[in-house]
Amino acid sequence: MMTQITIALTKGRILKETLPLLEAVGIVPAEDIFSSRKLVFQTNRDSVRLIILRGSDVPTYLQFGAADIGIAGKDVLLEHQGDGYYEPLDLGIARCKLMTAVPVGAPVQTGRLRVATKYINVARQYYAEQGRQADLIKLYGAMELAPILDLAHEIVDIVDTGNTLKANGLVPCGEIADISSRLIVNKAAMKTKHTEIQAIVDAFQNAVLKP
Ligand code: AMP
Repeated sequence: MMTQITIALTKGRILKETLPLLEAVGIVPAEDIFSSRKLVFQTNRDSVRLIILRGSDVPTYLQFGAADIGIAGKDVLLEHQGDGYYEPLDLGIARCKLMTAVPVGAPVQTGRLRVATKYINVARQYYAEQGRQADLIKLYGAMELAPILDLAHEIVDIVDTGNTLKANGLVPCGEIADISSRLIVNKAAMKTKHTEIQAIVDAFQNAVLKP
């Protein structure tokens, strides 16, 4: 029987940059992903299917072996803190930075800091390393709104061009990590489907080296 490989992709911005890379690897979805509401896509290879997930769910599928290979932002992987998967390759796509940001001209906060973010684990570690006491407030989106409405003094979020921060009266402040998308592989699958998975990892490596 043919060995089936399931590749979990992150939808949205990362997906747009992933598809050309997948094509360079020789994997082409059987239909247009963007104009479909499907979550599972067959490809030009009978043995390979794609699933389309929210970024933060990709490491979960990989951890439990529901997918063999995944593509997710390093921000998501840092926050997930799971195991059960390897991270063999930096794909160099969807580059950005994970940063703190504060309102323009905000006074230095001397007391206890309130920080809004969806990256609670990353933020906890960062402020601890900085030796700063911080109360973390979990949000699921639109972090930039929190300082405007006084929910938080600052935020931890992804910054690419900085336009989103600027449009909301914020400025980037502390750099936490350089982010790009990574290829991840379920540890058990790496053993049981080694030949097939290694071939795909190698093809990604070549595609990254020769964009
Ligand atoms: P920008 O205005 O270009 O700084 O983009 C900032 C917003 O776009 C952030 O709030 C993120 O939600 C999103 N974003 C930008 N780049 C990425 C990326 N590589 N991965 C995930 N989200 C991103």
